Amino acid sequence: MKYTDSLEKSAEYLRQAVQFMARQAAALHPVSYTVWYEYASGQNASLKKDIDVLTADGAVLDEKATHDLFRKHIAEIDEATAERVADGFQKIMANVSKSTSRAQNDAEEFGNVLQHWTVDAAASRVNGLDNLLGHTRAMLGSIGALQSQLDESKREIEQLRSEVKKVREEALSDSLTGLPNRKGFDLALAACLEHYGDSTEGPSLLITDIDYFKRVNDTYGHLLGDKVIRAIAMILSDNTKGKDVASRFGGEEFVVLLPDTPLEGAKQLAEKIRETVQKLTIKRTGKNETITNITVSFGVASYRKGESYSEFVDRADKALYKSKNLGRNRVSVAYD
Ligand code: GH3
Ligand code: MG
Ligand code: MG
Repeated sequence: MKYTDSLEKSAEYLRQAVQFMARQAAALHPVSYTVWYEYASGQNASLKKDIDVLTADGAVLDEKATHDLFRKHIAEIDEATAERVADGFQKIMANVSKSTSRAQNDAEEFGNVLQHWTVDAAASRVNGLDNLLGHTRAMLGSIGALQSQLDESKREIEQLRSEVKKVREEALSDSLTGLPNRKGFDLALAACLEHYGDSTEGPSLLITDIDYFKRVNDTYGHLLGDKVIRAIAMILSDNTKGKDVASRFGGEEFVVLLPDTPLEGAKQLAEKIRETVQKLTIKRTGKNETITNITVSFGVASYRKGESYSEFVDRADKALYKSKNLGRNRVSVAYD
């Protein structure tokens, strides 16, 4: 999605966004700004609908509500949306800045002409010239100050852009493992199906779930459980490359998207990861004890032309449950 609003429109949205933002309980930060800019532009219908409901009785939005709206309606859309918002702001400022520097040049030139004229005219005593020159100098000074304010604003916008990007990345990643979270995965799969849907080579999906993980938590505690989750996330990262996306689907379940890998290759990779996990040893912090015998089960599926996103994930999930039912620590393939 490219930024297409005209300069005038962007300026109007910006003005409205600032007014909306100022009325809320949430602080003025890139998340608020983005939410309200999108609201003002009217391009994000579902966001607008939610805000209208939330503020129907004159209620104001607090930090949580603002962040929730961002996560629900903006972070998950696409990177271009976040960029679009920052771009709009930047475009306006760049334009104002350009015209200011042009004004500055003009004023400087005018001042120089006057300066020469004053020197020449001094002898012939033309009244009022000194005064005019003084005003021109003052004008130059104010334009200079405005220019540096604009430069400062431009720096702030750059920062805003990178903060919006950062917030968006945080909303799409899992804090325990650093892998993309469920939303991140959803986006990756949607993008992948758009690009590779008609390909005969993949895409394939591995869904994996830690076996009897509740026991690990019950026996050694949640912190050790977290350590196991991180270790498995690391194994998944180490075994994927290029366009592959390993993500934490939720709890102790992961999913790996392999855009260019057909079923047989996906199955082999699942087997390799399964064996690697089986050899994993986790040290208990502060204790001279290592935990072994951690295993995972896998479900593998390759995309079938024409099936929906959820049908694809569902088939991989069913294969995973086949692995669980057959005794765990194994890989099952969805052939149909
Ligand atoms: P199965 O082999 O059938 O998958 O058995 P299981 O015990 O792994 O499955 P179950 O769904 O009964 O339990 C999953 C457990 O995972 C329960 C939940 O407390 C734990 N869990 C989910 N998320 C986290 C997490 O972030 N950290 C830790 N330590 N545990 C988690
Ligand atoms: Mg499990
Ligand atoms: Mg599970």
